[in-house]
Amino acid sequence: MEQNPPESVPSIKEKLKNSREREEECAANLQLHRKDLLRARTEAINVVLAHQKAIVQLDQELDENAKDIKNMHVHFISERETLLSSFVGSLLKEKKKAAEDQPDAPQFVAPRHTPTIMCFLRTHLNQPGMVSCGRKIRECESFMLQTNRERMELLFAQHRCFGCFLPLSVAGHLKLADCPHPRFCAICKTNDHHQILCAPRRVYQGIIPE
Ligand SMILES: [Zn+2]
Ligand SMILES: [Zn+2]
Ligand SMILES: [Zn+2]
Repeated sequence: MEQNPPESVPSIKEKLKNSREREEECAANLQLHRKDLLRARTEAINVVLAHQKAIVQLDQELDENAKDIKNMHVHFISERETLLSSFVGSLLKEKKKAAEDQPDAPQFVAPRHTPTIMCFLRTHLNQPGMVSCGRKIRECESFMLQTNRERMELLFAQHRCFGCFLPLSVAGHLKLADCPHPRFCAICKTNDHHQILCAPRRVYQGIIPE
């Protein structure tokens, strides 16, 4: 068997030097990545803070506009049906028809394009990430019988997209404009929110991108 000649001391020193330089380079890169990560974290925190601020503003505006909003709620608690009839006449007809066909039919009609992700109602979650009501959100009576305001607050509180209702951290988009979920509000004839979130436009100012 042939043996390599032993390496000379200068050559080993050279290799050591090279490896030390690479190590320093790696350490520098690591430092850079850490800085990037910290920056990303700060940005994420800023997004959350901006959301919280938006909720406070929204609350104020909602109070101011409570009267308007009352007329716009899309839900089917009987005492409000008269108020709603001019806005959701067709849906009410659908609901009545469904109730006649099936006496046990749910007390609501989920508008088209209502997301089908699992229920995320706070009271229906056992632990973070655990779903216990076991229904799709559009089939969850407790959610569908909430007012639009309550739904908006829930979506805000959980940092969810207004289009697909997914948490922004998993939706893969931060702006509604980038959300691929189909949405059209039959009440105000726009496509920047779900019908079940409909409210006067000024309520959404600064929250839904123009
Ligand atoms: Zn539920
Ligand atoms: Zn979305
Ligand atoms: Zn609308």
